[in-house]
Amino acid sequence: MTASPSLRPATKKKPKLAFRPLPVPQVDVQGFWGDRADAVATRTADILYDRCVEARMLEQIDPDRPSPGIVIPFHSPSPDEADRQGAEFTGSTVTTQMFWDSDLGKTIETAAYSLYRRKNPGLEKKIDAVIDMYGRLQQEDGYLSSWYQRIQPGKRWTNLRDCHELYCAGHLIEGAVAYYQATGKRKLLDIMCRYADHIASVLGPEPGKKKGYCGHEEIELALVKLARVTGERKYMDLAKYFIDQRGVEPHYFDEEARARGADPRAYHFKTYEYSQSHRPVREQDKVVGHAVRAMYLYSGMADIATEYGDDSLRVALDRLWDDLTTKNLYITGGLGPSAHNEGFTSDYDLPNESAYAETCAAVGLVFWASRMLGMGPNARYADLMERALYNGSISGLSLDGSLFFYENPLESRGRHNRWKWHRCPCCPPNVGRMVASIGSYFYSLADDALAIHLYGDSTARFDIAGTPVRLTQASRYPWDGAVEITIEPQAPVEFTLHLRVPAWSSSATLQINGEAVDLEDITSDGYAAIRRAWKKGDRVRLDLEMPIERLYANPEVRQDAGRVALSRGPLIYCVEASDNDSRLHRLTLPRTADIEAHEAPELLGGVVTLSAKARADAGDGWQDGLYRREPPASVETRLTAIPYYAWDNREPGEMLVWLRDG
Ligand SMILES: [Zn+2]
Repeated sequence: MTASPSLRPATKKKPKLAFRPLPVPQVDVQGFWGDRADAVATRTADILYDRCVEARMLEQIDPDRPSPGIVIPFHSPSPDEADRQGAEFTGSTVTTQMFWDSDLGKTIETAAYSLYRRKNPGLEKKIDAVIDMYGRLQQEDGYLSSWYQRIQPGKRWTNLRDCHELYCAGHLIEGAVAYYQATGKRKLLDIMCRYADHIASVLGPEPGKKKGYCGHEEIELALVKLARVTGERKYMDLAKYFIDQRGVEPHYFDEEARARGADPRAYHFKTYEYSQSHRPVREQDKVVGHAVRAMYLYSGMADIATEYGDDSLRVALDRLWDDLTTKNLYITGGLGPSAHNEGFTSDYDLPNESAYAETCAAVGLVFWASRMLGMGPNARYADLMERALYNGSISGLSLDGSLFFYENPLESRGRHNRWKWHRCPCCPPNVGRMVASIGSYFYSLADDALAIHLYGDSTARFDIAGTPVRLTQASRYPWDGAVEITIEPQAPVEFTLHLRVPAWSSSATLQINGEAVDLEDITSDGYAAIRRAWKKGDRVRLDLEMPIERLYANPEVRQDAGRVALSRGPLIYCVEASDNDSRLHRLTLPRTADIEAHEAPELLGGVVTLSAKARADAGDGWQDGLYRREPPASVETRLTAIPYYAWDNREPGEMLVWLRDG
């Protein structure tokens, strides 16, 4: 077996039927993800709205209030400088941001998904009021951007490279789709359809239209969602145009810069790799630039590959997937090591303490991986989706749902702690909306097949071949690998059930109605395929062995040389000061040490900890100096590790993923 899910070969088969995620309301999740989703529904969703208000976002979008733009800023950056600084204009009393529509869009989306789980009339009323503001703000021709209308009037469509204009539209579209599905209220959806129609009248391949696309991808995947919910092909075609046009010469961002009287070479980030527009997307073979932008682009490409059966996009995506997963991904599923470009640097450069690994980037990897599954079940993508979900993305949200990380390092001296809010608040609503919609990542549906990508207590309802089916999973996953699935179709119905067999599982067994089935015979691309006429009460039992693993990094990763990480099932572990006597950098885990798993129901919301005999460098005899001829004495100790996602939920202290290997 391989411990690294990324090493699975790409499937050579033709794309299978298109698989679509089950809509959020069709899946009830309990257990591990139920607890996370409850934290978002009961705390995070309200907190996001409150923080948006405190940040004075509503003053930017509400046309009935004076424009914050009338406050003379004491610092007025150029577009390039604005991008570098997150476009912060600080006036005497008001701060505005060019991307605030996106934060409100994601906040609406998080609220919408949370309303499925828990009624919250107070929050719903507040969101309705925000939507009303957008309704009043929208211009006659459909245009809608609080930044360009209220802060930079007269400059719309002049700087797609830097100013997040279409990115903001995309997040409002995603919010609109989710809110419509959650509440049945169409107002924001209608607003965003009008705006999308306006965008299509300004940008596109037809003569007379601008040949532009956004410097921050997002609109592409959002338009796919809009097309799916409205049934309007024109939105899908516009998404495809943005994908196809990206990086084509003559370069739109050059021409656009000249048109506004700027020198294209004065671009702050120097290279269009920053926004993955350095080459047409089908020619790209390296993950480059800003990590969140990259993940959103690849997500949109995967959607278009699925919808149009476009193999040229699929081939490019597989190359990019290989590059990310074999050379540029943290073991936590985090990505983008550098704060400088919030993104990728060079192959195998994966520093631990200074890892940027933005929460949004790991969330974006979940989005991308889940969309690769649209082309058919393949554990090459699902295993890493799971890795990013359970580790590098939800580490960005405190267990109670109230505090956040922007960066997700793999080592801390105790001063990297969660915050209430951020000047650039992209991460909190991003992890919020992902967790609140987790049910749709569990299952995807094709014409005559259902795929189960994730395991855990949950109930799914779906129609297959016109027959309503209820499918229930009972499992203590991720703490235990036993999964009991009950299938209850209203009438017997034939379809294929695809079950993921994770790469981390050293052995797995399958039973159908109590009878053993040879898994190997029916497994391809890491999924077991069971085709039969299902009838009420059919039971499938999957037992996944969940060994504790020592994981090592490729020797090219200099920061992990001589180090070992621990995993169990989908979880990557770390040691934290609270559970360990020694300073963490002094610890060595001997290769011969037995590692034990312990249930700790009272700890961190209920986890399984790992513990082992270890050695620690003793401090005795070093009082007089920094260097000496003799190595430090070694004392026996015990180390205890917790799941990485749960770190920094107690008193601040050191944390370490990669332990010294002895
Ligand atoms: Zn972020």
